[in-house]
Amino acid sequence: MAVYAAPVIGGHGSWLGIVVVMHDITELIRLERVRKDFVANVSHELRTPVTSIKGFSETLLDGAINDPEATGQFLEIIHRESGRLETLIEDLLDLSRIEKEGFTLELAGVRVQNILNQAAGTVSGRLEERGMKLSMDCPEHLAVMGDEPRLVQVFVNLLANAIAYSRPGTDIRITADSRGDMAEISVEDHGIGIPEEEIPRLFERFYRVDRARSRDSGGTGLGLAIVKHLVELHGGSIGVESKLGEGSVFTIRIPLARQTGQ
Ligand code: ADP
Repeated sequence: MAVYAAPVIGGHGSWLGIVVVMHDITELIRLERVRKDFVANVSHELRTPVTSIKGFSETLLDGAINDPEATGQFLEIIHRESGRLETLIEDLLDLSRIEKEGFTLELAGVRVQNILNQAAGTVSGRLEERGMKLSMDCPEHLAVMGDEPRLVQVFVNLLANAIAYSRPGTDIRITADSRGDMAEISVEDHGIGIPEEEIPRLFERFYRVDRARSRDSGGTGLGLAIVKHLVELHGGSIGVESKLGEGSVFTIRIPLARQTGQ
């Protein structure tokens, strides 16, 4: 609480009283903390791959370059870590773009099946690598009022997480239907699950349940923050139900297209 006080003096210099102004600055303090955390997180996330790239390139310059096996191995690490930097910078720029005031979506009636097929195509390599199957149950004419590439991005993110946080060989299921004037689309995995107490913080920027595992899976920690923002820009919402060790269901609700035109 910030308190300001000023005397009120009358015409002949007599005291009339004191004006006291109290500002509740709890929200300001919270916002400042969020900003500081964000800067600290970005710095940490950028420093980790940079340290690795610098270290391995120095080792190469110091002579390891004469060992072909070490050279191959170190170059692979340098390549992987620069890819990680690139993805992080892309996610940061994307998040700042969509959070900017005045950012607008290009809304049109889009078929959910079309969006899901595109997203499934993007992750098909990753699914195959891990011996996982994706099943879809979506009415053909279900259509939402949405920005097609942005909705594809939402489902690519959710599917990428479902793949990354599941054991190889398990299945992922997408179900979609209408509920009132919203489309309800769920992505269900049989993966590691999320502890109940972590769920409220899941959509915060850089929040991860298991830092090491997320980094290994190539995650930036920004995916769900981007997803939530995009879904809310559509006038929708996102929810999650999960059981540790059993799996998770992320459910998105987006306004249906007024006229499906199908
Ligand atoms: P990341 O890039 O780390 O995957 P996200 O913002 O996409 O970042 O997700 C935040 C965290 O939520 C992840 O680090 C992971 O701990 C958890 N998470 C997200 N999706 C799932 C899922 N399907 N199953 C289990 N944990 C998940």
